[in-house]
Amino acid sequence: MTSDNKPWEVYVIEFARSKQQPWVDLVAGMYDDGKVDLPFSFVLLRRGDRNVLVDTGFIQESSDAFSLRFGIPYWVSPVRMLAELGIGPGAITDIFVTHAHFDHMGSIAEFPNANLHIQKSELLSWYEAIALPPRFGYLTAIIDPDTLRAALDASVEHRVSLIDGDKDDVLPGIHVRLGSGHTIGQQFVIVQSARGRLVISGDCVYSSRQLTGHKHDGVYAPLNNAVGSVWEQLKTIDRINTEIGGDLGQLIILHDIERWKGLPIVAELEGFRIVRAG
Ligand SMILES: [Zn+2]
Repeated sequence: MTSDNKPWEVYVIEFARSKQQPWVDLVAGMYDDGKVDLPFSFVLLRRGDRNVLVDTGFIQESSDAFSLRFGIPYWVSPVRMLAELGIGPGAITDIFVTHAHFDHMGSIAEFPNANLHIQKSELLSWYEAIALPPRFGYLTAIIDPDTLRAALDASVEHRVSLIDGDKDDVLPGIHVRLGSGHTIGQQFVIVQSARGRLVISGDCVYSSRQLTGHKHDGVYAPLNNAVGSVWEQLKTIDRINTEIGGDLGQLIILHDIERWKGLPIVAELEGFRIVRAG
């Protein structure tokens, strides 16, 4: 096996949790499911001297942090969580950004050496949306303007590659698929691990019930917090389901309410877990 086809180590890193979020604000059809303390996470992929993130989490150290308006009371800096694995921010070589919402892209500025891999339609659609008059503000309610500024800074430094749709081996063994729906240019990530091909959901999926159906009848359920169409969302869920062959064990849901049950915990800080997924 050459170094180019060795499996990636995969770690899911939890760093925040919301409080008492109504499920129905997230997933259509969950009006009877009450409220949830929703976990927030990102993923670290390691191989050789590459340290790759899928999403970055967000920073809320200052009292005027954008994220504070969403009522996320439990939070540890993603940089501190990475330090638990002995990784400093300068050692992150690449970041796959699933989408530009603040809770996924909000700390790209913490990683000054990283190359960003994001869908062209994702970044450009947000530049367009944020320029619209304030009456269109619903579209950008979860977009931190400072995150877009940081993305522009990284672009000026030639650290951003804009991907146009599906692409295999963006890095050897890491593939992206356009997963439009939650956002226009959302992507999900497939990684070759020792446990086979794992799919990292981005926000295409919040709950496994979106794949299995609320009544376990296999009828896909869309999100209620999307700016793209229901039709696109269901096609995306179907692509994910096909990719994992219906095996939910191959799917890493970043907001997994079961907190990646069954996967070994390799570190824990202030109640936040790092689990080994592959
Ligand atoms: Zn999102």
